[in-house]
Amino acid sequence: MSTADPIVVVGAGHAGFHVALFLRDEGVDTPIVLADSLAGPPVQRPPLSKAMLLNAAEPRLAFRKPEFYPARDITLLHDTVVRIDRNRRQACLESGRTLGYRELVLATGCRPRALTVPGAGLPGIRTLRTPDDARAIRDALDQANDVVVVGGGFIGLETAAAARTRGCAVTVVESLPRLMQRIVSPEVSAHFRTLHETRGVHVRTDTTVHAFDGDTHVRQVLLSDGTRLSADLVVLGVGVAPETGLARECGLAVGDGVEVDTALRTSDPLISAVGDCVSFPAGDGTRRRLESVQNAADQARVVAARLAGRTAAFDAVPWFWTEQFSAKLQIAGLLPGTTETVLSGETADAFSVLHFRDGRLAAVESVNRPADHVAARRLLAQDDRPVGTDLASALSGRPGILRPAPAG
Ligand SMILES: Cc1cc2nc3c(=O)[nH]c(=O)nc-3n(C[C@H](O)[C@H](O)[C@H](O)COP(=O)(O)OP(=O)(O)OC[C@H]3O[C@@H](n4cnc5c(N)ncnc54)[C@H](O)[C@@H]3O)c2cc1C
Repeated sequence: MSTADPIVVVGAGHAGFHVALFLRDEGVDTPIVLADSLAGPPVQRPPLSKAMLLNAAEPRLAFRKPEFYPARDITLLHDTVVRIDRNRRQACLESGRTLGYRELVLATGCRPRALTVPGAGLPGIRTLRTPDDARAIRDALDQANDVVVVGGGFIGLETAAAARTRGCAVTVVESLPRLMQRIVSPEVSAHFRTLHETRGVHVRTDTTVHAFDGDTHVRQVLLSDGTRLSADLVVLGVGVAPETGLARECGLAVGDGVEVDTALRTSDPLISAVGDCVSFPAGDGTRRRLESVQNAADQARVVAARLAGRTAAFDAVPWFWTEQFSAKLQIAGLLPGTTETVLSGETADAFSVLHFRDGRLAAVESVNRPADHVAARRLLAQDDRPVGTDLASALSGRPGILRPAPAG
């Protein structure tokens, strides 16, 4: 390493881009190299399963125009980092080059999980992570009649809504008993199931895919209950796995993600990690990995502050959102471990569900109630988080209905 060596950020997605941006905002004048396997300026991913699938005109994906990067002395490198040599402090690139680093930040994100059933390699079966994936699905929707979406999580349901809006016959196949089960309450699952079914999407929960059938292209999906669904296009939304290969191979601590401390340092103090690929201490002795743009940007802010010489720790209230048909769901906080639920709001298509842990507000789900979501984020960020179950009025002015959280 020489003193002229840059800060190397591996991955120019939401987290990596924001590390570079915030480093410059912090006044750090060290050279910065932002390396990504994907060509072009860094892009955001949320529109890929929303506006991108609906419209022929592409939404704006790039965070900044190409001229932003040289203007802020950030070098964009279209290359894949294939190895990290911690002894020499070098990142080895697929092109054969090596880059010395002063500090290295892993922001490698996730890759979509695949299914390992017969026929899973047939053309016409797609995953959705990159702009090119989204373009391919959008173009396939132009021709498709029958679309099968495997996985009833955020990305699967957003894709199903887009495909249905574009006139396709759509079936969602989900292995768990309810939609978005790992993230949302039974109330919200039920609401979104009704929404999809009312719009004509066929929803099959408690069902798995046994095989795909076809010749030069997928033609049918075989389900665990013996049903055969016709399919011109299959989109897999069965979750993602963190990209931890580089970290593992260079001997960093890795579990469900690259393990970091509250300052987002890995087991090597010169290597930080941010975003979807990170497993961070949750404060209760467990570790957590989140997949959201807020998490990516908040972690980037912490790393940039630390590399600028300030003390920083990651302790942000998580929040997420999804848009499906006419419904926007926003979630502040995390539901696991909550024991009481308050419903707030009177209309069927605009309500919030408040969740409490040990009597304290722990999470709020808001459907078409953005003001509730903003209030919830503020309340959840307070050190003296509100206690009690009369909080519905704090959000919306309307009384809530207290009841125990249903199981599942
Ligand atoms: C279709 C879709 C819709 C989404 N919708 C939402 C939403 O509505 N709300 C929300 O909060 N979140 C959403 N997300 C999740 C959100 O986009 C991610 O949480 C966020 O992008 C994480 O940022 P990241 O930088 O950690 O990972 P990524 O954005 O995935 O970036 C990782 C980058 O690292 C690069 N990379 C990996 N390994 C290497 C290597 N060895 N060398 C060089 N480059 C490498 C990859 O090419 C990639 O560009 C969505 C994601 C997808 C795919």
